[in-house]
Amino acid sequence: MKKLILFGPPGAGKGTFSSQIRKVLPDIIHISTGDIFRENLKNETPLGLKAKGYMDKGELVPDDVTIEMVRDRLTREDVKAEGFILDGFPRTISQAKALTNITEVDLLLLLEVPRDLIMKRILGRYACPNCNKLYNKYTLPPKVEGICDACGSEIKFEQRSDDNEETLKNRLDAYEKNAKPIIKYYKKMGILKKVNAENTLKFTEKDIKEILNI
Ligand code: ADP
Ligand code: ZN
Repeated sequence: MKKLILFGPPGAGKGTFSSQIRKVLPDIIHISTGDIFRENLKNETPLGLKAKGYMDKGELVPDDVTIEMVRDRLTREDVKAEGFILDGFPRTISQAKALTNITEVDLLLLLEVPRDLIMKRILGRYACPNCNKLYNKYTLPPKVEGICDACGSEIKFEQRSDDNEETLKNRLDAYEKNAKPIIKYYKKMGILKKVNAENTLKFTEKDIKEILNI
């Protein structure tokens, strides 16, 4: 049973790395605060309505709302039995301190990716309009240019409107500013572990076990 935090900039590949961890720990509960907020927004729950304005502007939802939501999730029986991967939380130092009062944590995995690769991953991503298969202009193009590998449809690279270079630089700067004190906090606790995340898809089960100390 493991209690993990996945930490890293946008584009670090937290989702991919979570799937890798689940190959070794299939029952661990993946808790993504972004996913929970989006789900609540879609279902128009009271929590979703509280979070909406902030999410629309790309701002953080206030700590008290976010912390209560995470506390509620972390104190359920499935999490107590199987452990958790926290993804997207803590994002502020107050969230980190609140988390210490909610539960123990075994490891914070800091996913490290060079900035130029993050830019390529995010600015180059696109999907097949027909089957939604994901591609990347720089790192993962289709086998035949302009044709989807999966369904054979014609595809062409189109940038998402919120993925331009300027806004991405701002997001990365904001991440680094917030991340510093959080990284320091967990380093002092002695549970910080850096992971080179340039190519997590190449990790074997043995690599993952080594990272998780199991
Ligand atoms: P992104 O990488 O686009 O920020 P997320 O999926 O992690 O995506 O989060 C989506 C939105 O949910 C954020 O922009 C923010 O409004 C809210 N959110 C997620 N996690 C937190 C958190 N720990 N604290 C505050 N707000 C959060
Ligand atoms: Zn396709």
